[in-house]
Amino acid sequence: MNLSPDYQPLPIVGIGSCLAGNPVRYDGQTKAANGHVQRMLECFDARPFCPEMAIGLGVPRPPIQIVGEPDALRVVDVATGELDVTVPLQEFAHQVIEQTPRLSGYILVKGSPSCGFDRVKRYNNKGNVVAHDSQGMFASTLAALDPLLPLEDDGRLNDPGLRESFVTRVYVYHQWHKLCADGLSASSLIAFYSRYKYLVMAHHVPSYKSLGKLLANAGKENIDALATEFIASLMTALSMRTSRRSHANVLFHLAGYLRKHIAPAERQRLSALIDQYRLSAIPLIVPITLLKHHFANHPNEYIAQQVFLNPYPDELQIRNVT
Ligand code: SF4
Repeated sequence: MNLSPDYQPLPIVGIGSCLAGNPVRYDGQTKAANGHVQRMLECFDARPFCPEMAIGLGVPRPPIQIVGEPDALRVVDVATGELDVTVPLQEFAHQVIEQTPRLSGYILVKGSPSCGFDRVKRYNNKGNVVAHDSQGMFASTLAALDPLLPLEDDGRLNDPGLRESFVTRVYVYHQWHKLCADGLSASSLIAFYSRYKYLVMAHHVPSYKSLGKLLANAGKENIDALATEFIASLMTALSMRTSRRSHANVLFHLAGYLRKHIAPAERQRLSALIDQYRLSAIPLIVPITLLKHHFANHPNEYIAQQVFLNPYPDELQIRNVT
């Protein structure tokens, strides 16, 4: 896949090694990645990790499971319950975070006692399932160590809304790492947010307003404290699902910048396309493409920098969903 240089370097994203095609499952098999994950493998700098292999369990290995009460979970082997790998799995998560400083997301593996995102089976000491309410031990440790790190599993990524939010947050977190490495200042923080305004509006209008107010204090407050609050609020906003209505709202805002530049018939055609999108007749990529075409003919410096128009590579086909 030949991605636009605009997206280089690619975001660094961890992925369960079995999903990346490596035969590391307990039975020596891989796990087939769905088409969405396969496309992500080509649009991310994917780093495969297998926590169970990394802690020395090998292939083939005895299967493991989560046991205990929610506040005292352990991961033990199914057969005897005597091999406890809880701490090694937690330690490996520390190692991944420490050794991958610009990690911008992680694709977990559905149902795994190590790598599952949610609803992993929990057993009692007699080996009976008592609930489907756990996260894998490695996954929960990653989430605790970096609460902003975008996490999803291969199953959840079949959901278009979750997929869009995940990929969006991966690319934003990637840019955030770059901003921090380049050096934070009040002006760089304001310039950063200025590019994301319409993207945030598409996800959560109240955050669009509150983030603007938060940055009104840039220059007066401690920059590190302000940046911490800012990125936490930004990532929370982008974790909200968009809707056709919220996207249409942003599209109409952007179309407003063209009012004086395109003929009435062109304006009508653009509005009609946005309405068709809102009513689920066409995918988002159609009105976006027409908007980009008009802005190419009538450039606008502020709109040109808006990430909303190009949040991630088109090759991910996220905006092609009808
Ligand atoms: S789910 Fe995680 S621990 Fe299990 S094989 Fe895949 S990468 Fe390894």
